[in-house]
Amino acid sequence: MALEEYKRKRDFKKTPEPEGKAARKAGRERFFCVQKHLASHLHYDFRLEHRGVLLSWAVPKGPSLDPKTKRLAMKVEDHPIEYGEFEGVIPEGYGAGIVMLWDRGTWTPQVDDVDAALKKGDLKFTLDGYKLKGSWVLVRTGGRYPGARGGGDRSWLLIKHRDDWAGDVDIVDFAPKSVKSNGDFEDILAGDTPAIWSSHRPAKGGETGAMLAEIIEKAARLKNEREAATKSATGPRSGRSPQSSRRTSPQSSRRTQKNRVVKTKRSS
Ligand code: MN
Repeated sequence: MALEEYKRKRDFKKTPEPEGKAARKAGRERFFCVQKHLASHLHYDFRLEHRGVLLSWAVPKGPSLDPKTKRLAMKVEDHPIEYGEFEGVIPEGYGAGIVMLWDRGTWTPQVDDVDAALKKGDLKFTLDGYKLKGSWVLVRTGGRYPGARGGGDRSWLLIKHRDDWAGDVDIVDFAPKSVKSNGDFEDILAGDTPAIWSSHRPAKGGETGAMLAEIIEKAARLKNEREAATKSATGPRSGRSPQSSRRTSPQSSRRTQKNRVVKTKRSS
């Protein structure tokens, strides 16, 4: 287990993240997940189970289904297996922000020797997740990527191979929500304690700060609505009226449409 760096960066009395004690059960398929993480910057943590830990890359723009679009993936420390199911709010410290389980499933190496492939910096594999499927490759660039500031050999590219699961759909925009709770960042935050966010904001300025401010506001509103609904849950007329819940915004109907496209494609 190579979780020293993971453990060193965290105070488990202060973070809800798992400490990493569970041992791997032998014989099951290899797990993979992508966690959408709104911290000082929004990024997508791409994790592949290997030898009892989750190998991890931080992908700033998230995965792309377009083989022409290579996405920078910075290798970060291994994470414990049970981190793969984590979704929630990290109130302070390392990675402070909101973690959403954006995709999960299983992965299969397309090479005989994963360790050799990692050492070489060229790992081909297939994914079988809810959102990501088909053949992919992680290629180490050795820091030659222009965006890598002193990244050295930590910088890799995540690239989709051309197959039935490739396409020009912007998957991070197309399917933005959690595969665990079906919620967005504000739903995850609303399930926690949005009050802490006025004092512990991981990002105050710029685009991320503005995004956070909006999410905090939405989360607070959601939480208030839920609490009010719980208190006055006396009949079917409480909360949203049937009429208003039936009415969908252009955005949500677009998402429904998109989901239909995904299902159609998946069943083929
Ligand atoms: Mn992260």
